[in-house]
Amino acid sequence: MSDFSRTRALFHLPEGVIYLDGNSLGPLPHGALERLNATARDEWGEMLITGWNRAGWMSMPRRIGDRIGALIGAPEKSVSVGDTLSIKMYQALASALDLNPGRRIVLSDTGNFPTDLYMAQGLIRTIGAGHELLTVAPEDVMDRISDQVAVVMLTEVDYRTGRRHDMKEIIRLAHENGALVIWDLAHSAGAIEVDLAGLDVDFAAGCTYKYLNSGPGGPAFIYVAPRLQGKAIPALSGWLGHARPFDFEQQYNPADGVERMRVGTPAILQMAALDAALDVWDGVDMAEIERQSAKLTSLFIEEVEKGCPELELVTPREPKHRGSQVSFRFENGYAAIQALIARGVIGDFRAPDIMRFGFAPLYVTESDTRQAAAHLVEIIREQLWDREEFKTRAAVT
Ligand SMILES: *Cc1c(COP(=O)(O)O)cnc(C)c1O
Repeated sequence: MSDFSRTRALFHLPEGVIYLDGNSLGPLPHGALERLNATARDEWGEMLITGWNRAGWMSMPRRIGDRIGALIGAPEKSVSVGDTLSIKMYQALASALDLNPGRRIVLSDTGNFPTDLYMAQGLIRTIGAGHELLTVAPEDVMDRISDQVAVVMLTEVDYRTGRRHDMKEIIRLAHENGALVIWDLAHSAGAIEVDLAGLDVDFAAGCTYKYLNSGPGGPAFIYVAPRLQGKAIPALSGWLGHARPFDFEQQYNPADGVERMRVGTPAILQMAALDAALDVWDGVDMAEIERQSAKLTSLFIEEVEKGCPELELVTPREPKHRGSQVSFRFENGYAAIQALIARGVIGDFRAPDIMRFGFAPLYVTESDTRQAAAHLVEIIREQLWDREEFKTRAAVT
């Protein structure tokens, strides 16, 4: 029996709320609030510019990168923190294409998050060398890997359905065919076990404001395999990725290792919040998280299907084929989610018709899971979603 009551107590969870949207924005750790206060007051406030040295601000991207690395099977000095996931995907793809110059195809899938596809489209336009983004159905990815493909760029866990790719097999096939692989870990880091070094991943990137609870707009991270670090030339060659930023040289000269993926000045307050949010993970075993996640998601599926057999489950039934979320298709899904939120159960909606529920074992309990399922069943069976106030779309769904 897993006991996550220790970690649950480390979060501020609003009274009367069951939070099943930590896959979009993790809740506030008490420690992060304290750290934000302390960093602003004692470091920014008192040290002013000297904080860059005295408070170690400048080395935060590397130090925190190592802490994230420990959660995703990455060795020290292979992860750097900063910017946004969109930017980190752009950097990874630019470097990967540069490392595979004879080929023109970037292979991705229709389950990928749009920003990854948009960044690839923009980069391809900028390079102007005739690259092509080939976007196939997720189940066809393996069939389309060939010796024409430069880079396979995928999100491991589908943000809508929760379907998980077979990373190991895709990497094996890609490498056999001479292609590089980039993984978006937005719904993997802090949700399931990830073994970047063990699986011989080339590049990976992820965000920290979802399962890693760094707060809205928290910095992203990028992983570059140690064997590629010296060869990966950053397309966004900013001054903090320079070998000697404070020499202010005219010519760009990349820093050693993954540090070259830094671009500009890091967001220190968000870094501080992330650093404190990572304290929650001390002593937490990712295998245990994944087991508990399988248990909670299975329980939710079972309870919802018992009450609403007509709802279509779009998440794989087999726990090892899904991430830490459950999605159901329902044509009035938007209104149903609003009705749930009105009752204090927070999930979210993804167009056109997907109701999505994230389960983070750090703070979501079995009791939460049963109660949330009961509310959803009641709302659907009694058509409680059918009210004007629940049908008006807000800007962020
Ligand atoms: C949330 C998410 C993003 C978001 O990228 P940002 O640059 O942080 O806005 C990208 N990819 C995936 C798969 C996501 O789920």
